[in-house]
Amino acid sequence: MDTLLEVDGLSKHYGGLAAVDDVTFSVTEGETLGIAGPNGAGKTTLFDLISGHVGATAGRVSFAGQEIQRLPIHRICRLGLSRTFQLPSVIDSQTVFANAVAGSHFGTAQKARFRWGYTPEVAERAHEALDFVGLSDKASTPAGPLPVFDKKRLMIGQALAARPRLLMLDEPAGGLTPPEVDSLVELIGAIRARGVTVILIEHVMRALTAVADRVLIMNQGRRLFEGTPAQMMADPEVARVYLGTS
Ligand code: ATP
Repeated sequence: MDTLLEVDGLSKHYGGLAAVDDVTFSVTEGETLGIAGPNGAGKTTLFDLISGHVGATAGRVSFAGQEIQRLPIHRICRLGLSRTFQLPSVIDSQTVFANAVAGSHFGTAQKARFRWGYTPEVAERAHEALDFVGLSDKASTPAGPLPVFDKKRLMIGQALAARPRLLMLDEPAGGLTPPEVDSLVELIGAIRARGVTVILIEHVMRALTAVADRVLIMNQGRRLFEGTPAQMMADPEVARVYLGTS
């Protein structure tokens, strides 16, 4: 399998703080990589650097063979990399469908030409994504009052509507009940089965070990461990720094 994402010596400094400090790893097409680590380890900053939401202090990110670390977010998305955020970031006043359309627009080059509307292709992507995440029956309801799990599924639907090759999920299981975590694990399994490569930041160990082929543990901006979920559970350093505290 080919390498889809290559992160090389990536760093982000805020004044004297190295939020991400010389991190190197790669992800193979079709693989699911889990990222975990203590609070403040730099996981979300790492996502922000890869998705273009934050500029790097140093290092290189290459996606499908192209350097992306200086590209704007929408260009990165159109190349096939989309993500969700830790807190539900849907537009509360808009319907579920309109939120999915926004995600779909973002992944196509059609926003400029159809600023106030959407093409049939954009609508089709939005419907397909809502169907996939199980929200079709709520398409015409406002997103604001949705329960947490529905909002999380909607965020995943928005990201999928852009038809990504790489989907990055920031703590998708956070705040979910155990049965909802089970449904999420199933949903991520279905996304994988479509051939989409997944990177997820996850504190909920049950979810992380159920979906990840490989795990990267970060601590204080650095890569502490990389290996299978079973190797992670048996690693004394991971136990000392992270598992003992989670
Ligand atoms: P959590 O598990 O709590 O979400 P995390 O591993 O995602 O944590 P980050 O949110 O990436 O960690 O933060 C890494 C470090 O960088 C933290 O010390 C944080 O306070 C700091 N940091 C993040 N963003 C900024 C910013 N914009 N300005 C200054 N410091 C920041």
